[in-house]
Amino acid sequence: MGEDVRSVIIVGSGPAGYTAGLYAARALLEPLMFAGYMSGGQLMLTSDVENFPGYPQGVEGPAMMIHMREQAERFGLEVQDKNVERVDLSERPFRVWVEGDEFRADSLIICTGAEAIWLGAEGEDEQKGRGISTCATCDGAFFRDEEIIVIGGGDSAMEEATFLTRFASKVTIIHRRDVFRASKVMYERASKHPKIDILTFRQVKKWLANQDGLTGAILEDPRDGSVEEISCSGAFIAIGHKPITDFLEGQLETDEEGYIIHSSNTMASVPGVFAAGDVVDKRYRQAITAAGMGCQAAIDAERWLEDQH
Ligand SMILES: Cc1cc2nc3c(=O)[nH]c(=O)nc-3n(C[C@H](O)[C@H](O)[C@H](O)COP(=O)(O)OP(=O)(O)OC[C@H]3O[C@@H](n4cnc5c(N)ncnc54)[C@H](O)[C@@H]3O)c2cc1C
Repeated sequence: MGEDVRSVIIVGSGPAGYTAGLYAARALLEPLMFAGYMSGGQLMLTSDVENFPGYPQGVEGPAMMIHMREQAERFGLEVQDKNVERVDLSERPFRVWVEGDEFRADSLIICTGAEAIWLGAEGEDEQKGRGISTCATCDGAFFRDEEIIVIGGGDSAMEEATFLTRFASKVTIIHRRDVFRASKVMYERASKHPKIDILTFRQVKKWLANQDGLTGAILEDPRDGSVEEISCSGAFIAIGHKPITDFLEGQLETDEEGYIIHSSNTMASVPGVFAAGDVVDKRYRQAITAAGMGCQAAIDAERWLEDQH
């Protein structure tokens, strides 16, 4: 057994986790956080963040996450850079297994985020954050008057493409079939937009780049393997996200895509377990909304713990 029973264990160290940690620490709950395989969360993967209030000149994502961690630690958040492997939510205190050790807690706050699904095309890893993105709201403004491609055939792809027309000179949607999952209204809005072209039966085979970043892609027709080149300086992959909930082994209610469902405020289906950030939210997926929900979860946990006495 790792330790005595903690009041709160927080799983995940993105904006939701650190904000929950800050509030729980300031409420004197002595929270323990397991930061996970990606300490700092998704913003560790990006350079400029221009839409988090309080940074008039913008801020580098990793620097912002270090600030968040330092702020929460100043009030007593204990952080261990370890991964939670498994939990048992069947009785309280809850049990949490972390790299061989077992911990127990009266409440849990799950802030494990969601991973964007990438294509895995040749050259992709090198260009992530250097022209290839999974978030138009976050990165669209970096591509003013440039040519952009959007990959996907669902509502997200249509929405991202339409949003990107504000900045780009031209947006091309690339889809591997000629049938779209997108709703009719979203598809029509995108397809009728004068700045948007749609290329069907194409998939990205390889990304092209020079020392300044992305320059284009080799596209393949899945029907006959023929290839062609397209130029672009930005690419947005919009083929879905996967919430990180495998370690919960189905012990919390989720929707059909795996996002944790709140049963009351930020409390999940098991009383005493709270969830915040992108692991719950498939609509906004922003640092500020994740941080806001982390705050709510810590306040809800604190009030719930108070009610148990
Ligand atoms: C490239 C990129 C650029 C972005 N740019 C912006 C931007 O400019 N502005 C903006 O507002 N948003 C931006 N976003 C979106 C933003 O990063 C997310 O909305 C936000 O990070 C979600 O916060 P979160 O706390 O819910 O989860 P995340 O940041 O995803 O953090 C999840 C945390 O959970 C941990 N974890 C997962 N599994 C376990 C486990 N089993 N045990 C312990 N820990 C675990 C991980 O280590 C990680 O620390 C960007 C995203 C990406 C990918």
